[in-house]
Amino acid sequence: MTFGFETLAIHAGQEPEPRTGAVVPPIYQTSTYAQDAVGAPREGYEYSRTANPTRDALQECLAALEGGRRGLAFASGLAAEDTLLRSVCQPGDHVVIPDDAYGGTFRLFAKVAQRWGLDWTAAKVSDVDAVRAAITPRTKIIWVETPTNPLLGIADIAALAALAKDHDALLTVDNTFASPYLQQPLAHGADIVVHSTTKYVGGHSDVVGGALIVDEEGLGQELAYHQNAMGAINGPFDAWLTLRGVKTLGVRMDRHCDNAERLVEFLASHRKVAQVLYPGMPEHPGHEIAAKQMRRFGGMISFRAVGGEDEAIAICNRARLFVLGESLGGVESLIEHPGRMTHASVVGSPLEVPGDLVRLSVGIETVDDLVADLDQALG
Ligand SMILES: *Cc1c(COP(=O)(O)O)cnc(C)c1O
Repeated sequence: MTFGFETLAIHAGQEPEPRTGAVVPPIYQTSTYAQDAVGAPREGYEYSRTANPTRDALQECLAALEGGRRGLAFASGLAAEDTLLRSVCQPGDHVVIPDDAYGGTFRLFAKVAQRWGLDWTAAKVSDVDAVRAAITPRTKIIWVETPTNPLLGIADIAALAALAKDHDALLTVDNTFASPYLQQPLAHGADIVVHSTTKYVGGHSDVVGGALIVDEEGLGQELAYHQNAMGAINGPFDAWLTLRGVKTLGVRMDRHCDNAERLVEFLASHRKVAQVLYPGMPEHPGHEIAAKQMRRFGGMISFRAVGGEDEAIAICNRARLFVLGESLGGVESLIEHPGRMTHASVVGSPLEVPGDLVRLSVGIETVDDLVADLDQALG
């Protein structure tokens, strides 16, 4: 029997607990497990870095939601990314990364992995030819975000999957912005899905976490080996919070999308807004590809302010209901200035973002209240 997305979100990996029938998977707050005899752990549980039932429940659920055979949960999105890089790459290898990647992802490549011997090239991932031109004989991973952060560019997952295959590279898709409800990269040929579960998957701005999901068994085993060997796991309570959040992912995403669509309409005709960036707009250069690979277009909107950087900063400071803050994907709406906040670490690099850019993470509040707040913030 195959189940729909919302059913899997609530039930996959979450059978009632056998002893008591507890409907919600317990928080197995334990570091170790009693063994019946030397070399005979019960159900394979020996030590919680290696395996923990609460984390297992989350991992199984995430794998089901992405349509992969193996899910692995980590302490943060960056912990998942680091584990992936050092599982798959050797010093001397090369990775193609997006020219508007998440700032922390860029920093991981440029300041940490590069020192360890990993080479990288930033390319515009919405342009398949630009990605092809960046590939070298040592390219191990083509890394894309789609939609990208913060410019909301769209990468063609199926085309890049074919390109990666031709060059014996692995296509990795950071699916944080879309969530598995809106987009399932493995179904379009990607090899690895990365999540910051801190964002939409957790959805309540109360827990930091990350995940890797793959379909290929050998790759899954390699990553699981490194998850244990490197140790960047999440704790049982964090796994539990994330699993609690994921149950409502589908309904939350639909409301995020409804509210974002309404705000896009409002912003597009506002005299203080020079340009709205949202893949759901027919004039967005990635609209057609987004429509092909996404169910809807998500809750993230960026726009460029008339009046440049000073005005963009003033809008962020004037917002009241939109909380001024980093991160995204929670039930509450957030506003930020990428140039000075989330993307401050890429100033002066090929990934620098325009100063007049404002980024919104549209929450699930009453949409009229969100419109009213933006209206007063724009002035
Ligand atoms: C937040 C984020 C990350 C990093 O995840 P953390 O959980 O903060 O470590 C990676 N990619 C994207 C697109 C993000 O938004």
